[in-house]
Amino acid sequence: MILISACLLGINCKYSGENNKIKGLEELLKKEILIPVCPEQLGGLETPRKPSEIITKNSIKYVVDKNGNDVTSQFLKGAEETLKIVNMYNIKEAILKSNSPSCGCGSIYDGTFSGKIVKGDGITSALLKSKNIKIFNETNYFEKLK
Ligand code: SF4
Repeated sequence: MILISACLLGINCKYSGENNKIKGLEELLKKEILIPVCPEQLGGLETPRKPSEIITKNSIKYVVDKNGNDVTSQFLKGAEETLKIVNMYNIKEAILKSNSPSCGCGSIYDGTFSGKIVKGDGITSALLKSKNIKIFNETNYFEKLK
């Protein structure tokens, strides 16, 4: 059983109201039980919504949307709700959408809304990593299978 960012399954939960459906999904569904989550929706954010990015001020991380609204509490709630699902099903692996301020693992947008990528983890990925969940993104999971 693998946790997966719902947008990678073709669910229209992305900030724009669209999705990030992956190629090879049908094959993957034949092999694995995939548990979809969208931490931003689980945190109470609506869809569509303004895009958000992580910023750091005085060594503290915040999540702000493109209008400058602080949405940190919704992102933290989404991460906690996702962790509940992980624990409920005793999930050990996750495939999470790259670069997202929730789901990104190892790389995220830099907080300037300019499309620049920096090293870092999204809020949900960071929490799951701290609980020893093995996290892949939509690219390196398939590379692992080759
Ligand atoms: Fe996809 Fe994660 Fe963003 Fe939801 S929070 S739209 S699952 S990347």
